[in-house]
Amino acid sequence: PSSKPRLRPVRLPPDTTEEVFAAAVKSLRSSIGAENVVVNDQPLEDGWYLEHPNTHDAFHVVDQEELVCSAVVFPGSTAEVQTVVRWANEYLIPIYPISIGRNVGYGGAAPRMPGGVVVDLGKRMNSIVDLDGEGATCVVEPGVTYFSLYEEIQNRGLPLWIDCPDLGGGSVLGNAVDRGVGYTPAGDHWANHCGLEIVLPTGELLRTGMGALPGKDGADSPTWQSFQNAFGPKIDGIFSQSNLGIVTKMGFWLLHEMNHQSYCVTFAKDEDFAQIVDTIRPLAQQGVLGNIPQLRHIIQELNVTGKSKSTFHGGDQPMTREEIRQAASELPLGDCAWVFYGTQYGDAASIDRQLDVIKAAFSEIDGTKFWLPKDVPHDHYLHSRVQVCGGVPILRELDWLNWLPNAAHLFFSPIAPTRGRDAQVIHDIVAKGHHKHGFDLFPTLCVAGREIHYIANIIFDRADAEQKKRAVRLTRELIRDCAREGYGEYRTHLLFQDQVARTYGYNDQALMKVNEAIKDTLDPNGILAPGRCGIWPKRFRGKGWAL
Ligand code: ADP
Repeated sequence: PSSKPRLRPVRLPPDTTEEVFAAAVKSLRSSIGAENVVVNDQPLEDGWYLEHPNTHDAFHVVDQEELVCSAVVFPGSTAEVQTVVRWANEYLIPIYPISIGRNVGYGGAAPRMPGGVVVDLGKRMNSIVDLDGEGATCVVEPGVTYFSLYEEIQNRGLPLWIDCPDLGGGSVLGNAVDRGVGYTPAGDHWANHCGLEIVLPTGELLRTGMGALPGKDGADSPTWQSFQNAFGPKIDGIFSQSNLGIVTKMGFWLLHEMNHQSYCVTFAKDEDFAQIVDTIRPLAQQGVLGNIPQLRHIIQELNVTGKSKSTFHGGDQPMTREEIRQAASELPLGDCAWVFYGTQYGDAASIDRQLDVIKAAFSEIDGTKFWLPKDVPHDHYLHSRVQVCGGVPILRELDWLNWLPNAAHLFFSPIAPTRGRDAQVIHDIVAKGHHKHGFDLFPTLCVAGREIHYIANIIFDRADAEQKKRAVRLTRELIRDCAREGYGEYRTHLLFQDQVARTYGYNDQALMKVNEAIKDTLDPNGILAPGRCGIWPKRFRGKGWAL
């Protein structure tokens, strides 16, 4: 669904007349170059993952012309980011920074506030400022993707690994700032950042961590990437999932390359779900599990084949359990209920020993089978896990998008404690909601020792307005119903950020009050990403913007 004529004219920034907008664009063009300020007045193209638009949310779950920017600007340096920020303060125009804008399922490149100006950092600020093979660290600008960092490491022949999410086209910096996850032992991206360079909403520049200490003769600090906790209050956290600064550089930890072995374990019965989770917990807490493994429902074996749903099912309804069973029985892992994808790290003898312990633990559950990559055909998804869990960025997960015509997806991602009964409560809520609203349920659980990222991938047809409304209703109900049981999301699409923020409302929204106080102090004109993660500056607060 792309390249239709626009139904509406340029979406102007809030409280901005056409004249003021034109003057503002002219002024910014004269300071950072006309080619670096592009007004969003052309037909909207959804493109695809590698040619994604920075004009709107390509995976629009509301009308395509709803979550759009008024313009996109491309600063080429930290100094130009400061220029853009000062310009935004002068014209009181909201700006919304993105690194790459491939935040698919969470809003893509769209600003939270329609008509905001997107600051696309990635296009021109894409250098690997430092890559240290000895320290296993790097410093990156926003435009460095998993693919580009991986390639540079290969080109230099360094014995390093990166940790990538399922899709490798995103920004290393952007994903860490948004607290995304990957699957090697360094899967918690935010936990592996080390010192930030930030432009504040008023245009000042600061560095955090050891990076705040200038090096000799104006060089960067030699300890910037070595130590996270530095000295004094650690303020990095307020720049993650927030709207308090634009991160222009990030120190980041890489891994030393390792020997590794991926595998999967299949479980026969849906009802064993809670027991599977309870079996994973001690293995993870003892450090026997080497990474963040995934537990997936067997239906995902169908859609990672890249085939469309219509191959397996006629009509619009969700597939029945019997149909899933039937279709799965033709696939390499056969008819089962849950599939656990794990990877072990270390030398061969150590991996063998770890696998013995893991097999012994899982074999307590009836009907468990264990699979190595050599046991499945070369195009099976397990081979993709070998790559991702060995630090190789790939695009396999895009195959999901063949499931429906014009497919897009939306993530619903609550956190559960790693305990069968908690995971079961969430799973039941999610399953019931999907059934009620007519969606297939694709749950992937990223399981650590104490918590699970439960990620339901809601796949919808972008050309079907009614289906999109149902996807929105489904998500809103899931957020509500999980919150009633005490569970909340770690991240959410732009549309649901107000609702999710409200669920973190202990003691009369005490947390939000602090966030708002910090926002008003650091961003008195309310220009930086208003509304992101539900935090509205004074200027827009209580004026009907919250959803
Ligand atoms: P991806 O890495 O998946 O392409 P994005 O670049 O879209 O991700 O970033 C995801 C979100 O994180 C953005 O919507 C934005 O709110 C925030 N973000 C990304 N980069 C920065 C940055 N450099 N400074 C501040 N916030 C950022």
